[in-house]
Amino acid sequence: MPSGDTIFALSSGAPPAAIATIRISGSLAKQTLATLTGALPSERQAALRSLRDPADGRLLDRAVVIWFAGPATATGEDLVELHLHGGRAVVRAVETALANMPGLRMAEPGEFTRRAFSNGRIDLAEAEGLGDLLLAETEAQRVAALRMASGHLSRLANRWREAVLRLSAMVEAELDFSDEDDVDTGADETLRVLTLELAAEIDAVLARPHAERLKDGIRVVLAGPPNAGKSTLLNALVQRDAAIVSDIAGTTRDIIAVPVAYDGVPFVFSDTAGLRDDHGDGIEAIGIARAQDAIATADIVLWLGVPDGIPQHPAVWQIAAKVDRADVSRETADVARHLVSALTGEGIDALIADLVASARQLLPAPEDLALNARQHRLISQCGVSLHDAAGQSDPLIRAEALRQARAAIDSLLGHSHVEDMLDTLFGRFCIGK
Ligand code: GDP
Repeated sequence: MPSGDTIFALSSGAPPAAIATIRISGSLAKQTLATLTGALPSERQAALRSLRDPADGRLLDRAVVIWFAGPATATGEDLVELHLHGGRAVVRAVETALANMPGLRMAEPGEFTRRAFSNGRIDLAEAEGLGDLLLAETEAQRVAALRMASGHLSRLANRWREAVLRLSAMVEAELDFSDEDDVDTGADETLRVLTLELAAEIDAVLARPHAERLKDGIRVVLAGPPNAGKSTLLNALVQRDAAIVSDIAGTTRDIIAVPVAYDGVPFVFSDTAGLRDDHGDGIEAIGIARAQDAIATADIVLWLGVPDGIPQHPAVWQIAAKVDRADVSRETADVARHLVSALTGEGIDALIADLVASARQLLPAPEDLALNARQHRLISQCGVSLHDAAGQSDPLIRAEALRQARAAIDSLLGHSHVEDMLDTLFGRFCIGK
């Protein structure tokens, strides 16, 4: 992606809207604003100006304009904002005028943020948080993403990085004196203890719940024999005070998955094909195999069958369904965690409250860091290298293990080895971000 150009894009939502914001970033941004308005307003001061097409002097719009001098800007470059009337034709006319100006081009998706990263305005963990913030649909997701975008992990990782550097310096000192006779065993022990302390701190962060559950939702699978009332209960669950969040890609058709949020906690409820031992035709057998997979990967299973058939799972809840009927089995009702009737609504609110309370245990707490898979992998690598360093007595091998620990943190923050993932990350952003 060429970075020398001056880029522009609509940074607000799709027109028509009350206001449309076009941002311009790069070395020609300031000059572009002067060309459009005739005279440059003072820096960082909003001004109402007529915008004219430099090609023919035609009035494009009357707009509030503002400019910021780099590098102390969102992108690290000179940055201009045009707050236009948000009509489609207005936006199109201004975009066309900008595209016709030499040295200017429309930005690629995420290019403003990528420039912010390239210019050191944000690091990779912050950029990831920003990407998540734009996609956040529930309150829990928003809080976690905002913490990440605000540099919470970055500050922690930078502190770890400095600690590793101090340990490396101690090893270097040891190497310098290693050919002398009186090797200082006390210093060696201090180094080992400090390394283990840092490793323990990192292990504690890794042990907390991951961000994936926060993003994808707590998986609740409804299982039981055919006609147990699974579909009806699923409908009753998702119709109650639930915010149906957007569809999740890749959901198989024969397992219905409904993403919903209760109290800001994201869930995905799945209804499975009925589980029976004597499965009949091939298609049903495939459905049953998928149901078993769904149970295996579920966070919570709601079992609507008889207690004898309850599947093996660490969090399976016996549910007595259809309790409005006279023929509810006593043995099921006696051991059930919840008694519900999808028909009358009995027990549904209590079941939802229990699900929300249990789900909160599986999600990162609001004040915790929610690590994504990439961050988790790199921080694990750092921890493994530190344990490795602590276990080594040879200073040369120990120095190398510490170097690897630091390399993992550098990758985490985007200081190295990250070109591939940058394309993926910034491609996720919309144009204009
Ligand atoms: P599934 O095969 O497990 O998904 O079961 P369904 O949800 O399709 O329900 C099977 C039958 O039980 C249907 O005729 C439903 O109307 C009925 N049913 C489901 N839930 C209730 C309930 O809470 N009370 C009563 N009386 N009938 C129910």
